[in-house]
Amino acid sequence: MDFDFSEAQRRRYEEVLAGVRRQGPDLTGPGVPFARAEWLAAARLGMTGLCLPAKYGGGGLGALDTALCLEAFTEGGADTGLAFAVGAHLLACAIPVRDFGADPVRAELLEGMAGGELVAANAMTEDGAGSDVGTLGTAIVRDGDEYVLDGVKSFVSNASAADVFVVYGTSDRDAGFLGQTALAVPRHLPGISVGEPFTKMGLHACPAGRVEFSGCRVPVRYRLGEEGQGNAIFKHSMSWERSCLFALYLGQMRRQLDECVAHAKRRRQFGRPIGAFQAVSHRIATMTQRLESARLLLYRACWLLDRDRPDSQATALSKLAVSEAAVANSLDAVQIFGGPGYLAGTGSEAQLRDSVPSVIFSGTSDIQREIIARGAGL
Ligand SMILES: Cc1cc2nc3c(=O)[nH]c(=O)nc-3n(C[C@H](O)[C@H](O)[C@H](O)COP(=O)(O)OP(=O)(O)OC[C@H]3O[C@@H](n4cnc5c(N)ncnc54)[C@H](O)[C@@H]3O)c2cc1C
Repeated sequence: MDFDFSEAQRRRYEEVLAGVRRQGPDLTGPGVPFARAEWLAAARLGMTGLCLPAKYGGGGLGALDTALCLEAFTEGGADTGLAFAVGAHLLACAIPVRDFGADPVRAELLEGMAGGELVAANAMTEDGAGSDVGTLGTAIVRDGDEYVLDGVKSFVSNASAADVFVVYGTSDRDAGFLGQTALAVPRHLPGISVGEPFTKMGLHACPAGRVEFSGCRVPVRYRLGEEGQGNAIFKHSMSWERSCLFALYLGQMRRQLDECVAHAKRRRQFGRPIGAFQAVSHRIATMTQRLESARLLLYRACWLLDRDRPDSQATALSKLAVSEAAVANSLDAVQIFGGPGYLAGTGSEAQLRDSVPSVIFSGTSDIQREIIARGAGL
């Protein structure tokens, strides 16, 4: 066991931190929703293609190195909503194209996905299929050299910005979850309508909305994997998303902790810095313990993925620990900053709003606990 990073990992981490500072407001204060120029600023840092093959312009990185870059991205100050948009594009969309797309489709899509010319969105959730994605209402019906896609996806991150959707639907109603198929669907195909972005609690830079497919004819070459493999492909992409994407919350927590320590040293009440009060110093100790233990679980989940040993329990432990630490630490940060912590624009309240959805997307905390309990033998 080796807890040290390699020279290359250290250097890459520092480069991302410096890169965020160099790009400035494009990354630290993007628009709502992000503008294409801001997405391209993230792409220039390599963030949109971290784990895509080098031959398509990606970074060729494994899971742990991808996670470290995402962590550095937000620690350096990149907006959490923009980082989430990039992470969803990369891990829930580019990964299935990388691992299950036919060669011509990989060649058509991956270079643009890595380089920032193409934004991708993952379309799984439906009004009737949230935590339970075993039965999907969306229909995928083969008709010659095309699939006809019909259905409504109810919560699609990046929807309004997307150039390509990774869509899951049912191609065989009698086969249960083994009857699901995945398609990469270019946005320009007729029969796709994208709703207005939702008004959300947080992650404002990342637009999310409904997407309707109505008689949308998708050439068969855009199928990912085989017919019936959709559910397995989704699980594969979730093992990457649940592991790597949450590293952006590690970066947020690191930055947040530094801000809290600085504030606890600076702010004086009753004639001393508030950090001298045990209530405050122990709060900071607990925040540190949550962050560091979550960090180790995340690195382990990524390490297993890099050794072709994806472990659903290890991934669930990591996802649960990081997301719940992000929410708990953000509440503590608001408390440490006091009244100003509650005000918009100070940082703490946005960190809290950006953290709350992390216990919902990529499988809720309850679902992670179910997976962990099953892994424990129940
Ligand atoms: C910010 C954000 C971004 C998202 N982006 C995307 C995206 O890009 N693409 C996409 O397809 N979806 C996306 N989603 C949707 C997300 O995947 C779903 O919200 C999530 O899977 C939960 O589904 P649901 O909202 O229908 O809740 P439900 O499944 O209805 O759950 C409601 C409550 O019941 C609990 N529950 C349900 N089943 C069980 C069970 N078996 N055991 C214990 N408790 C249970 C849940 O934990 C939860 O507390 C996003 C969501 C958010 C908040």
